[in-house]
Amino acid sequence: MDLRGNGRFSGFEGWSVGGAEKSRCGYASAMDGASTGTGAIRIGHGYDLHRLEPIAPEGKGRPFVLGGVRLEHDRGPVGHSDGDALYHAVTDALLGALGMPDIGELFPDDDPRHDGQDSAVFLDEAVRRVRAAGYAVGNVDCTVILERPKVKEIKDRLRANIAERLGVGVERVNVKGKTHEKVDAVGEGRAIEVHVVALLVRAGGGS
Ligand code: MG
Repeated sequence: MDLRGNGRFSGFEGWSVGGAEKSRCGYASAMDGASTGTGAIRIGHGYDLHRLEPIAPEGKGRPFVLGGVRLEHDRGPVGHSDGDALYHAVTDALLGALGMPDIGELFPDDDPRHDGQDSAVFLDEAVRRVRAAGYAVGNVDCTVILERPKVKEIKDRLRANIAERLGVGVERVNVKGKTHEKVDAVGEGRAIEVHVVALLVRAGGGS
């Protein structure tokens, strides 16, 4: 596969093809036009953190929802919406890859319409924008940093939920669970933190 100079890129799998020089040229070609909202591939990073408090009325915590999964826990996220930090970070990774305004700009936390909102609504809108821009999700890699409850036990459900919302197979979604080694707010169970990286490929690009 010759990636040089023709402005074409065959998609996600194309990266493993060819030597170093071709890869370099392929990268330059694939990223052509990225600053103008085009390009064969685009990468985005999403980050979110929510404070965890006792569930209302004892505290300000909402029932704990993560990646669309309801968790039984004595604390829950504080937030204007349902506080789903994983869906929020995936949403921001997709929007970031598109070079669009972030979740806080699109869905302000002082808008009463989003009070207690199911965060799937935000993620679905980001997915709609990905498709409208002519892209498909290559893959997403998520890291959830949470002391309790353990992410390990619900990892498969998180992957399945995200994959369903993105309209891709579960093999394109990865979820890793980590603790914060009992230090700082996250380690003390007072917050949840999520990082997500998403790769978008030009739809019909051979992925
Ligand atoms: Mg959030």
